[in-house]
Amino acid sequence: MGKVNKTDREWQRELSPEEYRITRKKGTEPAFTGQYWNNKQHGTYICRCCGAELFSSETKYDSGCGWPSFYRPIDSVAIEEHEDLSHGMVRTEIVCHDCDAHLGHVFEDGPQPTGLRYCVNSASLQLKTEEKNDEETYP
Ligand SMILES: [Zn+2]
Repeated sequence: MGKVNKTDREWQRELSPEEYRITRKKGTEPAFTGQYWNNKQHGTYICRCCGAELFSSETKYDSGCGWPSFYRPIDSVAIEEHEDLSHGMVRTEIVCHDCDAHLGHVFEDGPQPTGLRYCVNSASLQLKTEEKNDEETYP
């Protein structure tokens, strides 16, 4: 369960400028533009930065907000929550437990059984589909 500790420079080298801006600088992609907001493929969404398993497509639902939305993470320890007081709002930021990548925010307007909406940037995620076995070996 070691934390991933990389320098800004290393992250910049490994990520696209957009992924870097969002995951390491707490950016947000515009709604309805990301790779996965409307994606219905089955699989596991892993952290774009470190490959940790974060969400299953089985808990993904269409929230209408324009970002991939899930009502539950794969594992409660996979994600950390922080109070976010930026932009004059009180929100709960979610980050990857293993590498502190900014993922998005969690809101309390989701569907049952949790009533939660994990609203995540596509740029913070990578979908590992069940059909393709060659992606199983990700790092
Ligand atoms: Zn991560």
